[in-house]
Amino acid sequence: MTTTRRNAAQDAVELHGVRKVHGTGGRRVTALDGVSLGFARGTFTAIMGPSGSGKSTLLRCAAGLEQPTDGRIVLAGTDIGRRGEKERTALRRRHVGFVFQAFNLVESLTAAQNVELPSRFAGRRVGRERVAHALDAVGLAERAGHRPSELSGGQQQRVALARALVTRPDVLFADEPTGALDTVTSGEVLRMMRMLVDEEGQTTLMVTHDPVAAAFADVVVFLKDGRIADRVPLDRHEGGGAASIAARMARLEA
Ligand code: ADP
Ligand code: MG
Repeated sequence: MTTTRRNAAQDAVELHGVRKVHGTGGRRVTALDGVSLGFARGTFTAIMGPSGSGKSTLLRCAAGLEQPTDGRIVLAGTDIGRRGEKERTALRRRHVGFVFQAFNLVESLTAAQNVELPSRFAGRRVGRERVAHALDAVGLAERAGHRPSELSGGQQQRVALARALVTRPDVLFADEPTGALDTVTSGEVLRMMRMLVDEEGQTTLMVTHDPVAAAFADVVVFLKDGRIADRVPLDRHEGGGAASIAARMARLEA
């Protein structure tokens, strides 16, 4: 197991010896088996690994959607491990944004209304300017009044991105955000995510099985059987990143 030691104050998320066991009795599955890792502020990390290696579980635990069986998780300086559901919900609303493979937009609402919706649920309604800024940040200022059916898949995922970011979360969590998109629109979304890291310092954790998507990140963490198999910083200006990531993935899957 690789353990990353770093100045704790610089990490947006820290996992310390995190274990997660799903199920009970004879149907217990150890999804995470002692993961210790820090995610530095303002960086973009891709999490890769074979199907069932624990990627989504890692993301869900790090974001406070699931509680680890053992270990500690510190999110934006707050220990989120041993807290009740209510308190974790409040922490999530304050500190994290999510995007998933499915865009989960409401068809009857405009892009702007979709972006505003979660903050309304949270009872912390954001102003019109914040919504406009979020849509502008993902290059959709002109599409604020459009409904999802009037937007391409890539544009819809960018609306979901704006929705995740409108509350200015400390960390953006993305689970296979380009899983439902073709190559061209995937590139659109990934370039946007990269730009948000570079220009807004948006700490981002992304699960993906696509080496091309992972090559947009600063660091790739490889999981296998619930453990960290490798952690590889990328030189994104070097080119050919995706090919070497794909080769590493192939070795893990062998
Ligand atoms: P990945 O995202 O890498 O495909 P997951 O984190 O979804 O992997 O799953 C890791 C392991 O934990 C798998 O064996 C999966 O079947 C199991 N698992 C995930 N979620 C649950 C759950 N809610 N209940 C039982 N087993 C689960
Ligand atoms: Mg998954």
